[in-house]
Amino acid sequence: MSLMIVGSMAFDALETPFGKVDCIIGGSATYAAWAASNFTQPIKQVSIVGGDFPQEEMDALTARGVDMEGVEVVKDGKSFFWSGRYHMDMNTRDTLVTELNVLGQFNPQLPDSFQDCEFLMLGNLAPAVQISVINQLKNRPKLIIMDTMNFWMEIALDELKQAIGMVDLLMVNDSEARQLSGEYSLVKAAAKIQAMGPKFLIIKKGEHGALLFHGKQVFFAPALPLEEVFDPTGAGDTFAGGFIGHVASTKDISYENMKAGIIVGSALASFCVEKFGPNRLKELTMQEIETRINEFVDLVDFDINIK
Ligand code: AMP
Repeated sequence: MSLMIVGSMAFDALETPFGKVDCIIGGSATYAAWAASNFTQPIKQVSIVGGDFPQEEMDALTARGVDMEGVEVVKDGKSFFWSGRYHMDMNTRDTLVTELNVLGQFNPQLPDSFQDCEFLMLGNLAPAVQISVINQLKNRPKLIIMDTMNFWMEIALDELKQAIGMVDLLMVNDSEARQLSGEYSLVKAAAKIQAMGPKFLIIKKGEHGALLFHGKQVFFAPALPLEEVFDPTGAGDTFAGGFIGHVASTKDISYENMKAGIIVGSALASFCVEKFGPNRLKELTMQEIETRINEFVDLVDFDINIK
């Protein structure tokens, strides 16, 4: 029984107010696997890369307990390439280049050994690919979570709605929730999105934290006020990886446990932004994670007496 992560593995070029890198490892599944592997192993990775993707990056994930049998390597193809530039507030970014390369032909065929998947994370990908993965599973996982982005709302809304109708939990940022629902109020947006199918909804608000909705219940996790935010790329995927890693390791899909999951996800995301690419995640210790989770607890801990 295990966690399966489906998503991109990529090369990124990034520009932030604090620096620039022309080529660094990225991709939604890369960030998610580094984050989740702190809590649960093995992880079954499903992705596609070109022959240009460094073997040592694959080996590093294998050493972390990530089973790479589901990662297709197209020897004469090029890996997905994405380039983005952040503005001074770091909450907004411009996509400069998206070269799908091998990701454009991604049609994952799940290995038999991946059929035991108990928890499934569908990272940001074409909705048709997300649907195909769910349809290939003979037994429905305990929990299916899905990430997406505005790009798919613009070019594949019908398929996206079909995919959303098949999952238990959807993760989007606040502007995507508004775009998807046509509602400005996030409470109204959450009700409309839950009516599309998912029983749980997480709305990410960047440096302003994240909200978890379930029916009429709502929980808020802050983001830690950080002294240094170097590169926010991958923070959303890292959040998702930390969340599902926690839920998979505890095997508890209750709303109460998901509250803990979004604190774990927020803690992991707070590390991700400290260095370019997934570099900070690679060197992280469990001790550091525990200390940071305690900082989150302290951040919202107070006594009140209003008599
Ligand atoms: P995040 O900052 O969490 O939104 O994730 C950024 C990562 O997503 C980068 O490493 C990119 O390589 C990857 N990415 C960006 N656009 C796409 C896309 N259209 N499909 C799949 N992955 C993408």
